Amino acid sequence: MVRVRYAPSPTGTLHIGGARTALFNYLFAKHHHGRFILRVEDTDRARLVPGSEEAMMKGLRSLGIVWDEGPDVGGDYGPYRQSERVKRHQQALEQLLAQGLAYRCYCTPEELEAEKKRLATLKLPPRYSGKCRLRPPDDPIYQSDKPFVVRMKVPTEGETVVHDLIRGTVVFENRILDDFVLAKSDGTPVYNFAVVLDDHDMGITHVIRGEEHLSNTPKQILIYQALNLPTPQFAHVPMILAPDRSKLSKRHGATSVEEYRQQGILPEALVNYLLLLGWSAPDETEIMTLDQAAKWFDLDRVQHTAAIYDYKKLEWMNSQYLRLLPIDQVIEYLMPFLEDLHLDLSKGPALPVAVELVRERAHTLKELAESLVFLYQRPTSFDPKGMAKHFHVESTPARLRTLAERLQELTVWDHDHLVALYDEEAARENIKRAELIHPTRLAVTGKTVGPGLFELLEVLGQKETVARLKEVAT
Ligand code: GLU
Repeated sequence: MVRVRYAPSPTGTLHIGGARTALFNYLFAKHHHGRFILRVEDTDRARLVPGSEEAMMKGLRSLGIVWDEGPDVGGDYGPYRQSERVKRHQQALEQLLAQGLAYRCYCTPEELEAEKKRLATLKLPPRYSGKCRLRPPDDPIYQSDKPFVVRMKVPTEGETVVHDLIRGTVVFENRILDDFVLAKSDGTPVYNFAVVLDDHDMGITHVIRGEEHLSNTPKQILIYQALNLPTPQFAHVPMILAPDRSKLSKRHGATSVEEYRQQGILPEALVNYLLLLGWSAPDETEIMTLDQAAKWFDLDRVQHTAAIYDYKKLEWMNSQYLRLLPIDQVIEYLMPFLEDLHLDLSKGPALPVAVELVRERAHTLKELAESLVFLYQRPTSFDPKGMAKHFHVESTPARLRTLAERLQELTVWDHDHLVALYDEEAARENIKRAELIHPTRLAVTGKTVGPGLFELLEVLGQKETVARLKEVAT
């Protein structure tokens, strides 16, 4: 059975790169009727951020990415926090030391730094000298209480080959891998070592993770081989780059799932957008639910070139979902944004009717909330350019007053009757209908753009429309 995992380090918030990795794992598991596991890689205690684990879980859940096994839900392969598995890591470390496949390194940080500098002056890449690898077994240092790290005895010749399911065959020369560290001087295993044991012990069949880990993979394969364990399959998903192809960072705007939520991006839209960052459906469908995506999702359609982040596309996706989702669901997501605006919702139309009127035009929940304000509050300012353009004719206020009178008498307040009334009035005044529409819109909303005027007036209601027209056209 396929078993995959997402293994975040709880060192901050859930970023789109991590969320996308989790999503690909989740869909791969679903597609193959396998299991998706959440493992928290918290061995590097110095980098832990309190609350990060919970925040990441909340972020994943908000996107509909749910795990079958994990620290909170348990499972047969627990514990699911790396720090709780340290005993097993240390056992394996002892095994490698006993077999002479790893060794203790007593070089001090100062010595290592000096060596690095020396190599740098020779224009050579940093690499461990191998000093402690060559120590004879009876070296008295082994009897001392000096601190040491444990290093892997990497073969000095040959190559380690990664058969990557996305990138194909990638060959690494062992010579350049260096004798990397397996455990720090306080005995804690480092990521590369712990991850191998955890993936093996949790029965992980496919390791799907970000491309930034590709250079770790040969090291991990060497550890699998040294421990005589079967290696899982590997798949490295492409990086997400900014539009200018630089590394995606804060300066490109929001990058965390929580920030997108605050900006009014729907989780459904975000996860759908992330799906398309490096993957495409066989028939190029773009809008789909996770269940639909799971039917199609496989690694053969994951691209191996970098995915380019495009906020405009995310906004477009969001606008699609704002139209598509059931109105009740949109309202539920919208409530916090409305609360921020302190609107008195009893002062206007029923919310579902109001949202239906404006949702086609909004890109974010924030924009949607703002575009509702005019239905619950009379405008306090009027677009100056619009006023200059549409109120410059002296007769405009008088026309609006007549319109208000006529609107007040209208017995059926709906779109068609409103159209008929405006047509009649325009004909009577011998002007184009638009010459009545623009000033009306400005008078009742303060703006020059928005939903179709007759739909808008229908929702705003007769009493309020008439009152606003009279107020402006005095
Ligand atoms: N803890 C690692 C990270 O957050 C996981 C890498 C992996 O998936 O192996 O990048």
